[in-house]
Amino acid sequence: MPAAEPQAAAPLTWQPPAGALWSGRWVDGASSMPVHDPEDGSLLGRVTDASPAEVDEAVTGVAAAVASGENWPAWRRREVLDAAAQLVLKRRELLTQVISREGCKTVQEAGGEVARAAETLRLSAQQAGCLTGETLPFSDTPRGHDRLGWYTREPVGVVAAITPFNDPLNLVAHKMGPALAGGNGIVLKPAEATPLTALAFARILLDAGVPADRFAIVPGTGSGAGRALVGHHLVDLVSFTGGYRTGNEVARTAGAKKTLMELGGNNAVLVLADADRELAAQAVVDGAFGVAGQNCLSVQRVFVDARIAARFTQDVVKATEALTVGGKADPRTDIGPLINEREARRVEEWVREALDHGAELLAGGRREGAFHWPTVLTGVPADARVMTDEVFGPVLTIEPFDTVDEAVARANDTHYGLQAGVFTTGLDTALTVAERLRVGAVMVNDSSDFRIDAMPFGGPRRSGVGREGVRYAVEAMTEPKVIAVRRGA
Ligand code: NAD
Repeated sequence: MPAAEPQAAAPLTWQPPAGALWSGRWVDGASSMPVHDPEDGSLLGRVTDASPAEVDEAVTGVAAAVASGENWPAWRRREVLDAAAQLVLKRRELLTQVISREGCKTVQEAGGEVARAAETLRLSAQQAGCLTGETLPFSDTPRGHDRLGWYTREPVGVVAAITPFNDPLNLVAHKMGPALAGGNGIVLKPAEATPLTALAFARILLDAGVPADRFAIVPGTGSGAGRALVGHHLVDLVSFTGGYRTGNEVARTAGAKKTLMELGGNNAVLVLADADRELAAQAVVDGAFGVAGQNCLSVQRVFVDARIAARFTQDVVKATEALTVGGKADPRTDIGPLINEREARRVEEWVREALDHGAELLAGGRREGAFHWPTVLTGVPADARVMTDEVFGPVLTIEPFDTVDEAVARANDTHYGLQAGVFTTGLDTALTVAERLRVGAVMVNDSSDFRIDAMPFGGPRRSGVGREGVRYAVEAMTEPKVIAVRRGA
C-alpha cells in the first residue's frame, strides 16, 4: 500500500480576529489554548480556552438579545442565511484550508464539506420562511364554540451547541443554521481540536448580516467551557453532537432541559447473494475509510452471503490496498491521519485485541504516528470491541452469513442504530430487510455512509435523542404557541 510523504507544513494563511466571539464582539479570553495540525504537530494558532465565567458572559449576552424582543423577522433571517450560504461558497478555498489543516480531512474531503455546509445554510434559509402553525378546532367542543384560535411556532430561546471534530464546518452549520432560522440565539462550543473553522464560520455569519449579539462562539475544553455551557440556567435547549459516553455526561449536566443528541454509530452493511458485488465492494471501502473512518456513518461491520464471501472479500481487500495513505494537502491522498496519535494508538490496540482473540488480518494493521492504515479483519469474535463499540477509525470487519434472517439479527445485535446499507437486486428482499433493521436510515444499494442534509438524521438507542436534518432541527428548536380569542368579549 503506497504512502505519500507529508508535505512540509506552511503557516495557516487565515487567523481569526480574536480567540472567541461573545457579547457582539471578537474577544480574547483570559486563557488560551493551542491548535495543532494533527499530521505533523505544527502550531496553527491559539484560541480562547473559555472559563465558566466567560461562558456565563456569552450566554447572558445572547439571552439578553433574545429577551429584548427586538424584531428579527423571518424574511430577514432567510436573507442573511442565504447570504451566508453564498459567502461559504465564495470562501471555499480558505475554509478548505482551515478544515484540512486543523482537522483530519484531506483537501478533497474538506472541499466536499464546504459544499455541504453551504447546502445546510440554504436549507436553513428555506425553513425560516416555512415556520407555520395551523388553526385549531375550538368549535368542536361546546366549551370552545365561542373561540377562534391557532398556534404559531416560537423560538425556544437560547440554544447551547456542542460539536465534534470530524465535520468542523458542516456540523457547526447544522447547529447555527436551524437555531437562527427558528429565531433563537445560540452559543456554540466547538471541538478542542477544530475551533478555527468555527471562528471562520462566525466571521461569515457576521459578514452575512446575522446580528452579532444573537450568537457566540466559546472555544474551550469539554469539562470547562462545555460543561459550563450545558449547565447554564439561561440555556433553553442543548444540541449536542459527539460520542455516546460524552452524551451521557451532557445529559446529566443538562438536567431537565430540552436536549437533542446526535451520537455514534457501529454501522452494518449487508451484502446479499444477488448483489452487484463490485458496486458493493467499492461502496463499502469508500464508506469505511473516508476521513480515515472518523465519521459517524462509517461502515464498520459487513455481513456478506457465504456464497459470495470469498470473491467479495477479495474485491474489498484489493480496493483497500489501492488507497494512498499520506499528507492531507496532497491531492493524491485518500486517507489522512487520525485526529491525534492517542486515537491512532487506541485503534491499533482494538485491532490488536481482535487479532489476539483469533481474528485474521486481511489488510492494513499498521500505524505510524497519527496515521493508521485502512484495516480489514475477518473471523472477529462477536465480543471484540471492533464489533461491539464504535471504532471511529479505519477498521472494517467482514463476516459471512448463511441466511438473511441471521444477517439481520447480527446487524441488529448492537447498542447503536444510526444507519445501515443493504446490497441486493431483489426489491422485495430490500424492503423486507430495510423494515427489519433497527436504525434511523437504510440505504439500499449503497453503504451506510450516505445522507443528504435535508433528511431526518439520527437513530434509535445509543445513536441519539431526536433528529437533526435541517427541517427537523428547526422543528425541535421551536415550540408551538397557542393563541385563542374569545368572541364578543
Ligand atoms: P466527543 O464526545 O469526545 O466530544 C464532542 C464534544 O463534546 C467536544 O466539543 C467536546 O469538547 C465536548 N465535551 C466533552 N465533554 C463534555 C462535557 N462534559 N460537557 C460538555 N461538552 C463536552 O466526540 P468527538 O471525539 O469530538 O467526536 C466523535 C464522536 O462524535 C463519535 O462518537 C461520532 O460518532 C460522533 N458524531 C456523531 C455525529 C452524528 O450526527 N450522529 C456526527 C459526527 C460525530
